[in-house]
Amino acid sequence: MHKYVIMGVQGCGKGTQARMLAKDFDFVHICVGDIFRWNIQNHTKLGARVNRIVRAGKLVSDELVEEMIRRRLEKHDWNFGFILDGFPRNIAQAEFFLESFDIDAVISINVPDDVVKARVLSRRICGQCGLDYNLIYHRPKNIQTCDACGGELIAREDDNEKVLADRLETYHAKTKPVIDLFCRKELVIEVDGSRDTLAVQNELREQLGLPTFQTCLP
Ligand code: AMP
Repeated sequence: MHKYVIMGVQGCGKGTQARMLAKDFDFVHICVGDIFRWNIQNHTKLGARVNRIVRAGKLVSDELVEEMIRRRLEKHDWNFGFILDGFPRNIAQAEFFLESFDIDAVISINVPDDVVKARVLSRRICGQCGLDYNLIYHRPKNIQTCDACGGELIAREDDNEKVLADRLETYHAKTKPVIDLFCRKELVIEVDGSRDTLAVQNELREQLGLPTFQTCLP
């Protein structure tokens, strides 16, 4: 059983890294932001409660997020383990988490703010099938349409300069102290996220004592 938390500022590539890890080792990837976005898109009760907050890039209340995490982890559908992405994001959430669950490691992906800005503002997602693109690192053949399904490529509503600046500020003020707390518990592995995707993946696997990406390929 492997229980990990993955942390890093928006645009550091943690979603991609978590998905690669989850796919190869059959871990469940629990992405809090995706759960909220799904609820907003599908007009659920939870979606209605968090809609405005998420669109503004502000943090949803601790009670709501903690309740959601508790329910999600209590499903126990993670036979081989889980990777928690987007939680905890402040000290109160971290304390709740440490009291309620145990974890094996916290993966901290470090990327300088200016690199993150360039990455985030060139991020696109297919409005139809949800595939991710990046106009710098992973360009579609045509910048307006999805290579896979031909759907229209759009920017996430919170991927704009104003919201990004707020989120970077919130991250440094509220989330960085969480990493410091986990560091004191000797749970953190630090990875340089400014390199290419595969190099980052293999470095974090090496530090976690997992087989490298190449050896896992069929
Ligand atoms: P993300 O995709 O991780 O950037 O999350 C998108 C949005 O979901 C954030 O801007 C917050 O509004 C909300 N959110 C995600 N995780 C949390 C959390 N741990 N605590 C509070 N709000 C969160």
